[in-house]
Amino acid sequence: PGTRRWCFADQLGPHFLDGPQQPALLIESRAVFARRRFHRQKAHLVLSALRHCAAELGDRADFHQVGTYGEALDRVGEPLSVCAPTSWRSRDFVLARPDVQVLAARGFVSSRADFAAWAAGRGRQRLVMEDFDRDARRRHDVLMDGARPVGGRWNLDEENRQPAPADGRSPAPEPWWPEEDEIDEEVRADLDRWEAAGDMSFVGDDGPRLFPVTRQEALRRLGDFLDFRLGAFGPHEDAMLSDERWLAHSLLSPAFNLGLLDPLDVVLQAEQRYRDSVADGKPLPLNSVEGFVRQVMGWRDYIWHMYWHLGRDFRSRNFLAADRAVPDWLAGLDDAAVDAACLSDVLGDLRRDGWVHYIPRLMVLGNYALQRGIDPSAMTDWFHESFVDGSEWVMVANVVGMSQHADGGVLATKPYAASGAYIDRMSDYCGSCRYDPRKRLGDDACPYTAGYWAFLDRTRDRLASNHRMRRPLQGLDRLADLEAVVEREQRRGTKPP
Ligand code: SF4
Repeated sequence: PGTRRWCFADQLGPHFLDGPQQPALLIESRAVFARRRFHRQKAHLVLSALRHCAAELGDRADFHQVGTYGEALDRVGEPLSVCAPTSWRSRDFVLARPDVQVLAARGFVSSRADFAAWAAGRGRQRLVMEDFDRDARRRHDVLMDGARPVGGRWNLDEENRQPAPADGRSPAPEPWWPEEDEIDEEVRADLDRWEAAGDMSFVGDDGPRLFPVTRQEALRRLGDFLDFRLGAFGPHEDAMLSDERWLAHSLLSPAFNLGLLDPLDVVLQAEQRYRDSVADGKPLPLNSVEGFVRQVMGWRDYIWHMYWHLGRDFRSRNFLAADRAVPDWLAGLDDAAVDAACLSDVLGDLRRDGWVHYIPRLMVLGNYALQRGIDPSAMTDWFHESFVDGSEWVMVANVVGMSQHADGGVLATKPYAASGAYIDRMSDYCGSCRYDPRKRLGDDACPYTAGYWAFLDRTRDRLASNHRMRRPLQGLDRLADLEAVVEREQRRGTKPP
């Protein structure tokens, strides 16, 4: 059966063990939750997943519910192995333990060596996700016809930028939902107790558990997605609807990040569905399948490898000198304090579910913080704590790099700053909002439109050498009312918009 394998709470699937008989060590450390103010449903999900895993492994699992990891390890008294953990902090911790053998990471499609070989082959060129994705597809022969991509094109995103459906309805049926059991009840009671005792505090609502905590539940959600939602995934993946927060998204990221699903297995299943559908004469839209595969095998893996490649100091980059604190209403997910329809709705969804899809994250929440100059490291913590799928490795590259442009353009060639016009095009929010997306001054000035120009004005010197920003910055000089817009935005600061 081999050495006992210590599995962290994000390493709970069978692929983190060497075989079905290998003994496991699971540790529920209360210090992890006491250190930070997580979304209540995130704490619930992690504890529920750990306890379900311990129950399923039965005698094979040595399960400790303790204050700290160190306490449990000191009790174990036998040699252990662990798959490389997922943050710099936990990596330092396991490497400092002589009783723990650290193995290569699992839970991703490409290995560190694959990434290193690809990066070395790029020489001094930028490490772009698109190129990484193509390399991974060739290496694993996914959606390929010989040396060429299926359908002749690598990326079909042009077909995946449609605005919100005009009828306000989701393009996919309601997703499958898990049912809670007695382990969830115990978790809920424990969290209530710890919170009442002042040992922990949470944000967000408690609520019925929406995301899988076992391998079986994760497979059920995957099957539901492949059967009923995958075909509709692509076209509206960037859209937002006020009454349809799931749209055709897979809702699989928490299951991936708990380690319940093996991403290569998922990608191969999606490909098989596509090939079967073609053979049956009812082909699934390739833009949907390719878009999903790229999210799992391209984007997720790329963000993981870049987390390590960019080094531990990457998190403290602050190219745009953004130094405002996260305001209390945002930290507390207080949607009722916010008038802006888009931001209030997204914040309300996040409070209720601990999840919104990536466009509200990037273009509503991230865009707001970018425009107002909120400290990118603090925003990274906020995303990590507020989302059920948030992990250190996910959020550093995504928030510091993609969302807040604090790396000066390593991950994305230009900042994801957008005015209300973008949100108006991609959602149904503006019609019911007290603001007007076309206005930058006046009582009904849209905070995103005013914020966009104020952001460009504040960062123009730093962005001047970015050729992709030339036209937007030229637009600044044509605004006769710029001074008034900037002055008003400075006065407003991070008051709830
Ligand atoms: Fe959001 Fe502005 Fe549209 Fe209101 S008008 S929903 S604040 S983008």
